[in-house]
Amino acid sequence: MASQDLIKKLEATIENIADFPIPGIQFKDISPIFLDPQLYKEVIADLVQFSKGKVNAVCGIESRGYLFGIAIAMALDVPFILIRKKGKLPPPIISEKYDLEYGSAEIETREGQIKPGQRILVHDDLLATGGTTEAAANLIQKQGGEVVQFSFLIGLKGLNGDEKLKKFGAEIYHTLTY
Ligand code: AMP
Repeated sequence: MASQDLIKKLEATIENIADFPIPGIQFKDISPIFLDPQLYKEVIADLVQFSKGKVNAVCGIESRGYLFGIAIAMALDVPFILIRKKGKLPPPIISEKYDLEYGSAEIETREGQIKPGQRILVHDDLLATGGTTEAAANLIQKQGGEVVQFSFLIGLKGLNGDEKLKKFGAEIYHTLTY
């Protein structure tokens, strides 16, 4: 559980931009966090605490999932695997199609980077509908990885993202919710 102090600082730092990138979306801009190295360290410490001793690999979702995911993996001393958007990784790749809050997409990993039986944390900056994360978890399971945790800096209430992820039976954590 994140401290009230950390939650307050994040609420004061993360910017809400209405109607971006399309009307009706309340976009959460996390970029001001990186202007404050102390706050960034506190965020990483919070996310690391959730996963310490529980996983032996981290999968981060492009691209904002890398901003925290790599630091989490480094602190846990476990491998970090990139889940990328379609067309960015050279073959051989494994891919998965999915729908998101705005539009649809496809994600990919390089074949062989996820090891069968690996206990994996799936991390992204924000959970909205859960479509992206669900696709990431499917992609990991296809390769024999065991999805044991999901973490997000932000969880958006009311879009039922947590519900969509329940079927994986993994722990779910968000540092703060809106
Ligand atoms: P979803 O698949 O609906 O859970 O969408 C999650 C992905 O879309 C994450 O990678 C987020 O970075 C991005 N995203 C979705 N909704 C928002 C939002 N309101 N503000 C910022 N990013 C968002």
